[in-house]
Amino acid sequence: MSDQKKSSPIYVTQPYMPALEDFIPYLQQIWDNKILTNGGPLHQQLEQALCDYLGVKHISLFANGTLALITALQALRITGEVITTPYSFVATAHSLLWNGIKPVFVDIDPVTFNLDPEKLEAAITPQTTAILPVHCYGHPCDVDRIQKIADNYGLKVIYDAAHAFGVRTEDDSLLNHGDLSVLSFHATKVFNTFEGGAIVSPTAKAKKHIDHLKNFGFVDETTVVAPGINGKMSEFNAAFGLLQLKSIDNALQRRGAIDARYRARLAGIDGIHCLPGGNQKVANFAYFPILAQERYSLSRDALFQKLHEHDIHTRRYFYPLITDFPMYRGMPSAAHSNLPVARKIASQVICLPIYPALADDQVDRIIDVIASNAGK
Ligand SMILES: *Cc1c(COP(=O)(O)O)cnc(C)c1O
Repeated sequence: MSDQKKSSPIYVTQPYMPALEDFIPYLQQIWDNKILTNGGPLHQQLEQALCDYLGVKHISLFANGTLALITALQALRITGEVITTPYSFVATAHSLLWNGIKPVFVDIDPVTFNLDPEKLEAAITPQTTAILPVHCYGHPCDVDRIQKIADNYGLKVIYDAAHAFGVRTEDDSLLNHGDLSVLSFHATKVFNTFEGGAIVSPTAKAKKHIDHLKNFGFVDETTVVAPGINGKMSEFNAAFGLLQLKSIDNALQRRGAIDARYRARLAGIDGIHCLPGGNQKVANFAYFPILAQERYSLSRDALFQKLHEHDIHTRRYFYPLITDFPMYRGMPSAAHSNLPVARKIASQVICLPIYPALADDQVDRIIDVIASNAGK
């Protein structure tokens, strides 16, 4: 019998790597051009290619998603208070603190784990200027309800769409909602440029302003119009993105097959809940979150540990909640009583491994551990 511990470790994700030889021509181009950054030819090509692939009008590439978030808030001159979710990666709220903005946390919806529009209005004060929701796990927020509330109160909406690469609702990109959407191309994301990010803008004017902000505020050689930052993506990262884009459809397809395999076999396990797929027309299967509920024989942390013993390294996204970190936990909106749903989900969630190179027998190995500990 092959001992499961002797088989290779499985991690929650693994970047999709194109063949190294396919990257060499791009490097050759960089070496020939001797243009390494500052909006070079590959940067321009990737912006156009992403607009075409994603179905968006304007995109500004960044060195990473966090700088893109910080710059998006600057671009819209957001101040005062911003309503956001505690159930996300910490960069969502950190981008507010870096702008001197006070985050106001609102609880999440128990079905989608996205910001609950039902609870949004009660958190609005005269200081509120914007809403910063997250399309958690790539599942669309209730964009229509959020927009309606934003319009009623004159608020801006910036989507942290770090998980939402390629997601479409009906015939449109999810990224076309709100005033701006922010992507991350970090190594752990569905589409990566090693490190990278982007802002999706609805107008050429907004893009132009953002492009100034990410380049120190320069509009020409001698004119600086804003205290901008250095947020530029390099040619090296843009090249990797162009190459990665060629295989993205295959990667998403394989993720979809893994998602279906998990769902089919986990459905029969008492106390294991799979997050419903969401209402998107095109999904990206960025994550595979499950809940270990009360009926399951192990606590979430015990299951996490059990999987670990089998060399399966999952992640508890998103535990702890952002509101548990020291720079947030004293805030009134971070109180436990304000966030009962987020608190419960964070105590039960585990994200199972999902990435294109994950083989069916590895998926089965993961499911077997979960199944073999059920019903005791
Ligand atoms: C990854 C991520 C970010 C940050 O993106 P980086 O490119 O790593 O800076 C922000 N928000 C969410 C929800 C993320 O998952």
